Amino acid sequence: MSFISHLPIWLLLIVVPMIFGFYAQMKIRRAYARNVQILSRGGLTGREAAEAVMRSAGIDNVEIVEVPGELTDHYDPLNHRLALSEHNYNGTSLAALGVAAHEAGHAIQHKVGYKMMSFRQTLAPATQIASGVANFAMMFGIYLFTGHGGFGYNIMLMGAIALGIICVFQFVTLPVEFDASRRAKVQLVNLGILDRDEMKGVHETLDAAGLTYIAAFTASLGYLLHILMILSGSRRND
Ligand SMILES: [Zn+2]
Repeated sequence: MSFISHLPIWLLLIVVPMIFGFYAQMKIRRAYARNVQILSRGGLTGREAAEAVMRSAGIDNVEIVEVPGELTDHYDPLNHRLALSEHNYNGTSLAALGVAAHEAGHAIQHKVGYKMMSFRQTLAPATQIASGVANFAMMFGIYLFTGHGGFGYNIMLMGAIALGIICVFQFVTLPVEFDASRRAKVQLVNLGILDRDEMKGVHETLDAAGLTYIAAFTASLGYLLHILMILSGSRRND
């Protein structure tokens, strides 16, 4: 494949997902920055909201902790720990309540044995190894690549397999994330933590966060397809 004939494919598989990724990052930053300024009428903090959402699901064995950083919030199923970033822990903004309830949504998924979450957990260790392999292969494979069957070819093949694992993991992450946000939105209203007209800010924040997961999956898939095309192209050129 010549460079020129390759260009549209490279744009489509690498550059377009990259721009989509930047757009998604910008959108979450803006949505968060906007809704962090809007305080909820009820005045509950993120910690209290997460507590309330989990209590309503009968969860009493999850510890809620404060962690440094911005948007470092996560749920750790291994240690039954719900980590909220400083602002979301103490803050009463629509963004804080949305994120806190979302993390509580993960705790509920864990408790009810939501299949996609357990599948994602099973894939997590392999994905961690795959990330290292993929980074290594991306860095060196392309330079050592001399055509079908060579050393560089095998490194890139290894990279493709690693990227395949990452793609599956990121694909499974999508229903897990969207389901947690769905549970959060329902519970924030049902429990009276937010009024319906305040939900716009929660939707904005959580939907923008969801978009970043779609962007991450799209980028990995683009990379994978691009490598597979280079590998299969080299086979044809032999
Ligand atoms: Zn999440």
